[in-house]
Amino acid sequence: MYQRQRMAAIFLDRDGTIIEEVDYLKDPAEVQLIPGAIPALRILQRHFPLVVITNQAGIARSYLTENQLHRIHDHLRGLLAQLGISLAGIYYCPHHPYVGHPPYLGQCQCRKPRPGMLLAAAADLALDLSRSYTIGDKLSDIAAGSNATTHTILVRTGYGKQHEHQTSLEGVFPDYVANDLLGAAAWIMERTGENR
Ligand SMILES: [Mg+2]
Ligand SMILES: [Zn+2]
Repeated sequence: MYQRQRMAAIFLDRDGTIIEEVDYLKDPAEVQLIPGAIPALRILQRHFPLVVITNQAGIARSYLTENQLHRIHDHLRGLLAQLGISLAGIYYCPHHPYVGHPPYLGQCQCRKPRPGMLLAAAADLALDLSRSYTIGDKLSDIAAGSNATTHTILVRTGYGKQHEHQTSLEGVFPDYVANDLLGAAAWIMERTGENR
């Protein structure tokens, strides 16, 4: 019987990785793509579904509503679509372990460094996690990627330069450190080869 092969994917953090880090971004007008993000996503999407995974505790903290977040994500999708890039999914965690009110207050399985968002995407999209890559600017991104058994890349954009110096302290080690998303894409393509 024919079985569809599970695809490897690219899991991308949002803030500080694809778009400029803004403290609790809540207005679509604040969305600014990081230089190099577009060519990187273009290269990667030829070979992998692109899945954004983002902690959005600003919702638990009442800095923005889920509706506002959806508007931001619609805007981001539109911006990327104009440039020929489409995302297979955007997963967000609205929770915070000890700030806010139900239903957003409390421990959840989705807040990075937990792997819940990656596991959900893998189930929804039939992804092979062990051949997938996680890219982010924080060690919590790297830990989530590792906890989901993916390869991991820390980028030096956003908080990346600070977090690069805390790997030993935190005991979290990315497989690779790239200057930016374009550097991460180059490394991935080198590893996987053009003729997959
Ligand atoms: Mg980030
Ligand atoms: Zn959560």
